[in-house]
Amino acid sequence: KACVTSARNEVIMSHRQTPVLYIVIPCYNEQEVLPITAPLFLQKINDLAAAGKISPDSRGLFVNDGSKDNTLDEIKKLRKTDKTVNYLSFSRNFGKEAAMHAGLEHSKESDAVIIIDCDLQQPPSLIPEMIKYYEEGYKIVYTKGRTRKGEPKLRTFFANWFYKIYNRHTEMPLDNGAKDFQLLDRQVVEAFLAIKDNYRFVKGIFSWVGYPRKYIEFDFIPRIRGKSTWSFKSLLR
Ligand code: UDP
Ligand code: MG
Repeated sequence: KACVTSARNEVIMSHRQTPVLYIVIPCYNEQEVLPITAPLFLQKINDLAAAGKISPDSRGLFVNDGSKDNTLDEIKKLRKTDKTVNYLSFSRNFGKEAAMHAGLEHSKESDAVIIIDCDLQQPPSLIPEMIKYYEEGYKIVYTKGRTRKGEPKLRTFFANWFYKIYNRHTEMPLDNGAKDFQLLDRQVVEAFLAIKDNYRFVKGIFSWVGYPRKYIEFDFIPRIRGKSTWSFKSLLR
């Protein structure tokens, strides 16, 4: 049901001047990174709102995934000076998939959501292009790595192995190298939320729900600071 275009949604959209955009940013132990990167995300929101591309009601939604460092304090500091900052905080670390899910659940006020990592491995400079495609009518604008050059070799090996198995056994193949960094229209978010699975593979669900989609490619960017929490065990799970 949720996958069927809602006439009501379209009426609401056509009466609205500019879309309300929420940028969902999952954060786990990112105290070194956040003070540098968060202002860049917030600046993007302010610039796009000033240019009349998105509504001034747009927000950055930070999800603190049970960090053990001062990530939450850094988010609270941001909130004090910038009212476009919203945040959620988990009682413990539940993992990035859960953080993205919670972010989407708490983006009800938005017309579109962008999910982005907070370590600048996914360039916020692509956001205006994502919005351009959204204006053209694409409901999902996702991103993928042009190559895996620069990524740890072991990770590339297991990632290729994963996509091979996944695509052999599922009806909706995934692009090898697709990122969680993507723009999602409200209809797509509602379709995602209508699925009640507890353990989710976010990328897989967004590929499964359908809708017109477009992708943008970018080259591998190393982490700005801090370290990746990538572990073989969690990716295998
Ligand atoms: N992250 C999270 N929960 C976790 C692990 C990571 O919310 O349990 C966030 C992290 O703060 C970052 C994003 O997910 O914004 C990607 O994590 P990371 O950079 O460690 O992974 P990689 O880029 O190596 O895949
Ligand atoms: Mg990263």
